[in-house]
Amino acid sequence: MKISHIEHLGIAVESIEKALPYYENVLGLKCYNIEVVEDQKVKTAFLKAGDTKIELLEPTSPESTIAKFIEKRGEGIHHLAFAVEDGVANALAEAEGKGIRLIDKAPRLGAEGLHIAFLHPKSTIGVLTELCEK
Ligand code: ZN
Repeated sequence: MKISHIEHLGIAVESIEKALPYYENVLGLKCYNIEVVEDQKVKTAFLKAGDTKIELLEPTSPESTIAKFIEKRGEGIHHLAFAVEDGVANALAEAEGKGIRLIDKAPRLGAEGLHIAFLHPKSTIGVLTELCEK
């Protein structure tokens, strides 16, 4: 697959409202979008650090995978997202062909209208990995 850059870092937080002052007032980053992704049961806030985004993820339900993540591991880095240039479906097929376990068998629509898919952290040395494309 062809990765162009780190598209974003996903960070699990209990509350976007409580997390934002750190990112905005201490780090000086600017939140430019807050969006609820219903099917993921998360509220997301996006900030830009150069060309890389920071995606804060707040669970909107105790059933959310983010809620479960925080319960198990606490707040912190949740996933790493790479932008792929040759299509998420192609990248998934290639990863699967190389023995990587997929969470998503096919790309789906994520925040900001990106096509996204996740690779399983059991196959990626502990890092939940997202592949995405505009
Ligand atoms: Zn993400």
